[in-house]
Amino acid sequence: KPVIELAGVTKTYPGGVTALRSVDLVVDDGELLAIVGPSGSGKSTMLNLIGTLDRPSRGTVRIDGHDVASLSDRELSALRARRIGFVFQQFHLAPGRDALGNVADGLLYYGVPKKERERRAEAALVRVGLGNRLAHRPHQLSGGERQRVAIARAVAGDPALLLADEPTGNLDSASGAGVMELLRELNEAGTTILVITHDREIANGLPRQVPMRDGQVI
Ligand code: ADP
Ligand code: ADP
Repeated sequence: KPVIELAGVTKTYPGGVTALRSVDLVVDDGELLAIVGPSGSGKSTMLNLIGTLDRPSRGTVRIDGHDVASLSDRELSALRARRIGFVFQQFHLAPGRDALGNVADGLLYYGVPKKERERRAEAALVRVGLGNRLAHRPHQLSGGERQRVAIARAVAGDPALLLADEPTGNLDSASGAGVMELLRELNEAGTTILVITHDREIANGLPRQVPMRDGQVI
């Protein structure tokens, strides 16, 4: 069943720039794919629409079976918090919280008690190979480890979809390769993952590539 369905999606920003033009895309449950294209091709706009952070000007966006046009802003926030995991180039970890705290805080939306959040956070950190780093703060971790914490936080709630925006953009090539390997492992265990990248090599290492140029899938 599809996790992402875009049909005839156009996005025009106030001011008149059309960042996406009639884009169609279907991503099935269990896929691992890359949206790949140069700067300005519309990748971030696509990420914002798929991540339900923005709405299309025309066309339909369905995420995890929900037509985003039929949901209020409040319902969209709930869908985003519970069903979509985000990973960014800049990690976005809280500097004052250790790895366990960073991951556990990602579960606040689920309404589970603290002990249960910490239990799930520890399990997620073990999954990404950081079972021995629970009490480390971000500044005590390498770049590759910080991104693994961010990935643990993104998958701890068992999302329908993991969106990774240039996940290796801030890493040396060895750490980047490790992060891509981790994403492949998580995908094999069942998580649907979409990677946004300008890096052809990263994209070519994944089972499916969606090339973009000038706001269109080519
Ligand atoms: P990419 O992520 O591939 O670099 P973007 O989606 O950021 O592409 O940009 C696609 C086009 O939309 C570019 O021409 C960009 O300048 C424009 N754009 C992106 N965001 C905005 C915005 N908030 N307002 C106006 N124009 C925007
Ligand atoms: P990676 O495999 O992510 O590239 P590194 O080789 O950069 O890892 O780091 C090796 C080890 O050094 C890591 O386990 C990390 O915990 C530790 N480390 C890295 N940077 C720091 C730091 N600034 N302070 C304390 N420990 C660090």
